[in-house]
Amino acid sequence: MYWHNLFVPTLREHPADAEAVSHKLLVRGGFIRQLTAGVYSMLPLAQRTLLKITDIVREEMNAIGAQEFYLPALNPASVWRESGRWDVMGDNMFRLKDRKGAELCLGMTHEEIFTAIARNELRSYKQLPQIWYQIQTKFRDEPRPKSGVLRVRQFTMKDSYSFDLDTDGLDKSFDLHDAAYRRIYSRCGLRFAVVEASSGAMGGSASNEFMVASEAGEDWIASCASCGYAANVEKAVSRLEPVPDGSGLDAPEKFATPGIRTIEALVTFEGGAAAHNQIKTYVCVLDGKLTLALLRGDHELNETKIKDAVGANDFRPAQPDEIFEALGAHPGSLGAVGVTTYPVIADEALRGRTSMTTGANENDFHLRGVNVERDIKVTKWASLRTVKAGEGCPRCDATLEVNKSIEVGHIFKLGLKYSVSMGANVLTQDGREVPIVMGSYGIGVERIMAAAVELYHDADGICWPVSIAPFEVVVTPVNFTDEAMRTAAETIYRELKAAGVDVILDNRDERPGVKFKDADLVGIPFRIVVGPKKLKENKVEFFTRSTKTNEDLDLASVVAHVRNVVAEAKAKLR
Ligand code: ATP
Ligand code: MG
Repeated sequence: MYWHNLFVPTLREHPADAEAVSHKLLVRGGFIRQLTAGVYSMLPLAQRTLLKITDIVREEMNAIGAQEFYLPALNPASVWRESGRWDVMGDNMFRLKDRKGAELCLGMTHEEIFTAIARNELRSYKQLPQIWYQIQTKFRDEPRPKSGVLRVRQFTMKDSYSFDLDTDGLDKSFDLHDAAYRRIYSRCGLRFAVVEASSGAMGGSASNEFMVASEAGEDWIASCASCGYAANVEKAVSRLEPVPDGSGLDAPEKFATPGIRTIEALVTFEGGAAAHNQIKTYVCVLDGKLTLALLRGDHELNETKIKDAVGANDFRPAQPDEIFEALGAHPGSLGAVGVTTYPVIADEALRGRTSMTTGANENDFHLRGVNVERDIKVTKWASLRTVKAGEGCPRCDATLEVNKSIEVGHIFKLGLKYSVSMGANVLTQDGREVPIVMGSYGIGVERIMAAAVELYHDADGICWPVSIAPFEVVVTPVNFTDEAMRTAAETIYRELKAAGVDVILDNRDERPGVKFKDADLVGIPFRIVVGPKKLKENKVEFFTRSTKTNEDLDLASVVAHVRNVVAEAKAKLR
């Protein structure tokens, strides 16, 4: 490819609306253009990178025996109704009607469609295990599309699904995916962590997320540098220092707290209590059901944790009028003592606590001397609080860090959720009919591209890992109209190409500075500069983008040398 023929609409300035580095650089480097909110066109450079990513994904999926499918993105409502997710997916699902009025949607994920195939076609244990995958477009009407292609409404996902006879089989399929995913991200050059995750709306038992640490991420990960424990804060737990309880009372005692509405205000109030001796009562609505969540005064509720604790899909804070109707008081005076008509979910940190202070469900009154297990009807104990940096690691003596990350992949043990709801069964060796045990595994293709930019860039632009760079090498003659330079550049270009290197020749009639700037911006890992002075000595200059180092190479050996450098850089990622 000659640069002259390549469509790379680079911009002088970062787009004004962009915050994330990957958003800025992918737009400025001429990789992507927004069509509408959360919907992007992939221009030729992005498409080259994405194809390299999908090649790696395909190779590694095929290597674990997975078989590639291609399923429709246009789905009938009926199959989503069978699993119950037509309702669960809510506003995130793009829905439409055909000319006859039949309801359809655009696929957000493909558990239902793959399960429908399995149900109709798999009959016997002899046909298991199966791993099926596709690389295909997904549609999600995300509430907040943002950060360029990191969170979009249309994106490419590699999604796979495993079908096993039993949970041992599922464990194997899950481990195969875990290993394949590690190879995929390594080969794409990403530095990543594997963390325990919530299984959320997908249902199921265990799940791991693959995370790239980055300020542009939307997930918070708690991790321990000492023992390697790592979990999404939606799932993470921590070890707390014990806190002292007061001496206790025989029964809760009501006391007046005029105008006191917050945990902090009660801390300084005469006769109040330290935050860790208070119970925070949070009223929320889970799948339409009013529910009380109890936490220690100095702890924060995690939405995902409480949804997972009760298996709810939908969470919202209760409105003040709903709260008043249910409990007879306003936020600031709420508590769970005496509450029997609503579920009360209590955080584990409240177990065994005594002498606690909480709202009395009467405006301007609190209760002290509350013994949680004696005085409150807890319907369920669960881990509800968001862990914080500096708290103890649950597995060792060290403390946890909490950092922002980008989720680039997620693997789930689904279990029987879809096979039972949709009736996907097989016969065992002894003739019993059993539901298939399933797993589901996703990788965001554009997210890998954007995460790589977040990780690898500098003030001049992107520094692609060589395996997913749009081109591996650029040959830049300082002046293409000069015959000697042109001949040398074209020879190097042709020979590198013949040697299997993904190379581009910058034959544009531009000043060398412009060509260098563009190559730096779009992030081509290696550059061979053919200039007048060096050429007279039969030399060219070899520039490495990531280290910004230059070396002189003999014209005679440049092709062999560069081919080796590229091959070694790729091999390092394996
Ligand atoms: P998130 O929590 O970021 O919304 P998710 O948990 O909904 O992700 P999955 O349903 O597990 O994601 O999808 C698998 C993968 O698809 C994710 O790990 C991510 O890489 C990618 N992905 C999901 N949603 C988006 C999106 N809106 N834009 C780009 N990629 C996405
Ligand atoms: Mg999502």
